[in-house]
Amino acid sequence: MKDMAAILDILEKTYPDAKCSLDFTNPLELLVATVLSAQCTDERVNQVTKSLFNKYRSARNYASAPLHELEEDIRPTGFFRNKAKSLKSCGTSLVERFRGQVPRTLDELVTLPGIGRKTANVILGAAFDTPGIVVDTHVSRIAQRLGLTRHQDPVKIEFDLMELVPRPRWTRFSHELIWHGRQICIARNPRCPQCPLLEHCDYGQQALDTKAGGDPVARRAESAANGRPAGPRRKGGSR
Ligand code: SF4
Repeated sequence: MKDMAAILDILEKTYPDAKCSLDFTNPLELLVATVLSAQCTDERVNQVTKSLFNKYRSARNYASAPLHELEEDIRPTGFFRNKAKSLKSCGTSLVERFRGQVPRTLDELVTLPGIGRKTANVILGAAFDTPGIVVDTHVSRIAQRLGLTRHQDPVKIEFDLMELVPRPRWTRFSHELIWHGRQICIARNPRCPQCPLLEHCDYGQQALDTKAGGDPVARRAESAANGRPAGPRRKGGSR
């Protein structure tokens, strides 16, 4: 079994400011920003939404926008044709079924065009203060590397993490893992020697052992050379 309390403690201390990096002032703006963030950096989305949110202030504005105009307004975020279609359909659904308001439950949110569980959980956590585990590419990868899940499917990963993490921590934990994935547990080259979670991560320890030729002395030397103490080797480990 993983020492989940220790992992949560380390993440909290390492990322005390972890939060949603998208700029927004209301649930509709967050919904739009989250749709635009697919395959795009949050920084670029924030640049685009600065002017977008001045122009489109309600669900009705998105519903009635000429599609080609909306496409041009969001073009820098990439995949702009599909995203514009989603935003227009979403605006229409919000007007027709929710009086123009963003609904506050997961079950309702996922009925909106282009909104899956990941986006819904971002909205619930950041706009409505309702705990939700957000399984994006970072959360999925790190959960697997840490041995918190054996699954690849985002929904199954979400349910595994819901079992392991106390409900009030779901949203914060998601943002901590997202920040960890951007800064240390990078997809192609995870910085395991610098990682504060190394002693809880079989994947990271094995990667260092392989790099050091399986020599634990060399592994400790490498860790020390990188400025962190080598953690004790865990026996067993993965769930
Ligand atoms: S030890 Fe390496 S693989 Fe494990 S969480 Fe840290 S950076 Fe990721």
